[in-house]
Amino acid sequence: MAVIYNRVALIGLGLIASSMAHAMRWKGLAGEIVGHAQSEASRATALEIGICDRVFATAAEAVQGADLVVLCVPVGAMEAIASEIAPHLAPGATVTDVGSVKQAVIDAVAPHIPAGVHFIPGHPLAGTEHSGPRSGFATLFVNRWWLLTPMPEGDEAATARLRSLLEGMGANVDLMDAPHHDLVLAVVSHTPHLIAYTMVGVADHLRRVSQSEVIKYSASGFRDFTRIAASDPVMWRDVFLTNREATLDILGRFTEELFVLQRAIRMGDGPQLQEYFTRTRAIRRGIIEAGQDTAAADFGRGTPPPPAADASVDPKA
Ligand code: NAP
Repeated sequence: MAVIYNRVALIGLGLIASSMAHAMRWKGLAGEIVGHAQSEASRATALEIGICDRVFATAAEAVQGADLVVLCVPVGAMEAIASEIAPHLAPGATVTDVGSVKQAVIDAVAPHIPAGVHFIPGHPLAGTEHSGPRSGFATLFVNRWWLLTPMPEGDEAATARLRSLLEGMGANVDLMDAPHHDLVLAVVSHTPHLIAYTMVGVADHLRRVSQSEVIKYSASGFRDFTRIAASDPVMWRDVFLTNREATLDILGRFTEELFVLQRAIRMGDGPQLQEYFTRTRAIRRGIIEAGQDTAAADFGRGTPPPPAADASVDPKA
């Protein structure tokens, strides 16, 4: 594939930035990749594993001469970075970000972007529960959605160029407005993360089940349901602080649904429970049909489950 940007500056060198670097190198999409992270350790790692050709102690130095700048820091750090880099951005450059919330990032970053620089907010719907420069891999974005929320007055040619980079890394690109993005993400990502964190908290509080039992029997559902509760605490703190209204809306709806099911259990209403689970199973299967998850048993782990403590107990129940 052809080089799309001559110099890409990655600000923040964690999971998303390092995956972008691997993917751009794999497909030959960037001439040079430079970077900045706040810690010396992350900058040194980025050089050691080769995700950056050069690293800089400040974001201001890193963006100089770059035709693409990607903000890959937690949402709460975006404004300070935008204000720092603004005077150093090259005329005609594109600035994008990968933040999980879009309206708050637009409010924080757009006022700092100088005339003649294109700001195109974005969000890859791809990730893992791991963080840091060593956690990235080249195929993270393959067949995953990358949502762009261009500014109303945005430059279409600049958006098309960015789109070709993202598609070059294997992503499928969709455009939408920022408030809609934040509502959709509250449903598909933010609220599920909050519920996973909560479920781990419940298990922690439940003194009848010792911690060792939670871990030992976790394949019953707890393990898969709470995988995302290992995600970075700073990133998720910022998501809930900046997508407050949409997550509170979805959380309210979730609580109402939970009460409906709680009542059905209390009243012994089997048909209602069965109808509900049949409907939701069909929706979950639709995710596999859309290519957004594996159909393999046990998520393709390929390892035999540990022996059940009680052979009469179905470990998947
Ligand atoms: P990560 O692995 O935790 O890495 C974050 C990086 O940002 C680190 O290199 C960190 O530097 C750097 N950083 C933090 N604050 C900074 C500051 N004030 N100045 C300079 N650098 C700073 O995070 P990530 O998972 O890649 O997430 C980055 C962004 O992507 C977030 O906005 C997140 O919402 C979004 N996102 C994440 C996922 C996901 O699943 N993880 C998916 C989609 C989008 P140090 O290494 O020196 O601490």
